[in-house]
Amino acid sequence: MYNPKSLKAEEFISHEEILSTLQYAEDNKNNAKLIDEIIEKAKLRKGLSHREASVLLACELEDKNQEIYALAEQIKKDFYGNRIVLFAPLYLSNYCVNGCVYCPYHAKNKHIARKKMTQDEVRREVIALQDMGHKRLAIEAGEDPVNNPIEYILECIKTIYSIKHKNGAIRRVNVNIAATTVENYRKLHEAGIGTYILFQETYHKESYEKLHPTGPKHNYAYHTEAMDRAMEGGIDDVGLGVLFGLEMYKYEFAGLLMHAEHLEAVHGVGPHTISVPRIRHADDIDPSAFDNGIDDDTFAKIVACIRIAVPYTGMIVSTRESQASRERVLHLGISQISGGSKTSVGGYAEPEPEEENSSQFDVSDTRTLDEVIYWLMSMGYIPSFCTACYREGRTGDRFMELCKSKQIQNCCHPNALMTLKEYLVDYASEKTKKLGMELIKKELYNIPKEKVREVVVERLDKIEHGERDFRF
Ligand code: SF4
Ligand code: SF4
Repeated sequence: MYNPKSLKAEEFISHEEILSTLQYAEDNKNNAKLIDEIIEKAKLRKGLSHREASVLLACELEDKNQEIYALAEQIKKDFYGNRIVLFAPLYLSNYCVNGCVYCPYHAKNKHIARKKMTQDEVRREVIALQDMGHKRLAIEAGEDPVNNPIEYILECIKTIYSIKHKNGAIRRVNVNIAATTVENYRKLHEAGIGTYILFQETYHKESYEKLHPTGPKHNYAYHTEAMDRAMEGGIDDVGLGVLFGLEMYKYEFAGLLMHAEHLEAVHGVGPHTISVPRIRHADDIDPSAFDNGIDDDTFAKIVACIRIAVPYTGMIVSTRESQASRERVLHLGISQISGGSKTSVGGYAEPEPEEENSSQFDVSDTRTLDEVIYWLMSMGYIPSFCTACYREGRTGDRFMELCKSKQIQNCCHPNALMTLKEYLVDYASEKTKKLGMELIKKELYNIPKEKVREVVVERLDKIEHGERDFRF
């Protein structure tokens, strides 16, 4: 029944295969010999199967767990260096016809403020985001064919890309909207989106159907097969994720990796990113009603094991997580974070009045983008606003080839320094600017090729004098 190459959800995410994987992991959680073999394989940096990675996740041997963490940290350094890419979410509309029981936008929630931005409002929000320094957005909208049809989403994307305020520009729009048709995915592709993101929420079909009692999202197969349709529609980069806390995390972990294996088997390219959200408090939603919540230690272990299992897949953590929790997982594998986020519809240009709460969840990390940038740099990370790859046509399998051969780093590092310089010159506070300039000076020496270093020095100087948007 289990077949990673099948296009049927229940075959590539086979419930039986997950149960047997969990049993195998449970049986071997103290099997030092097998765990050693898996760690050795992981050191080759070619990834692990869902079964192997599940054994590591289940491992109860303290010394082996320390090895797992150390390896995750090393892989993170090898593939991503000390760079962290920044983005912000932008909620376009919270009208939604679905009944997801964990989300305040569910159709039966009659007291939440419903909003849909006009193009003028989108413009104002994007200017506010540009004025913060953001270059990369993830747009979000509920599923509502009347209020948020694909034409509305496309119009918003067009508006976002068209705005050039002062030195600002949004250079990459990632899209997180409901599962849709191949035809609609093609339209998104043609609109020049970056990654198409869709969280599975849970891979457990029975739970999925209970958690999504009404609306089109109730259809497990249609939702689970969405990435195949997106790829058929020409979208090369897709982002997976589950909402940890809804189901047993070990089940979700195995399902997530099986999904990644399926994409690789069918399309020759795995997911571009994996997000690891945990359920949060929100209007009408109490996270304690979900009894599969995971603690910080388990969360860190999940991040480390994903890092080892799919080394070339970016990993995202949002402001759902607190500063402390983000700090803990950054070095274990996270490559992208949001900063200065608002999870309401609008709210960047003007804060939302309290009585009009339209948020999808409560933000844990409420710092400004400038504070986040300073914090990252003070820990030795290079905040990056790079969006170069898809603009240079480095997407899908082309991108993965560069990642797997580690050549991508020849682009990532200089791009990080140049986009950070833009941020420092245009948006940073004095304190952040000072720290950032020192960091850039130091990091220039980590560009291995002298020729490239010379070009970067020249371009950094041009940025100082007003030129923008250099990239490798
Ligand atoms: S999770 Fe998405 S589909 Fe479900 S209610 Fe919220 S906005 Fe709608
Ligand atoms: S060069 Fe590509 S992979 Fe590297 S940070 Fe930029 S967009 Fe990401």
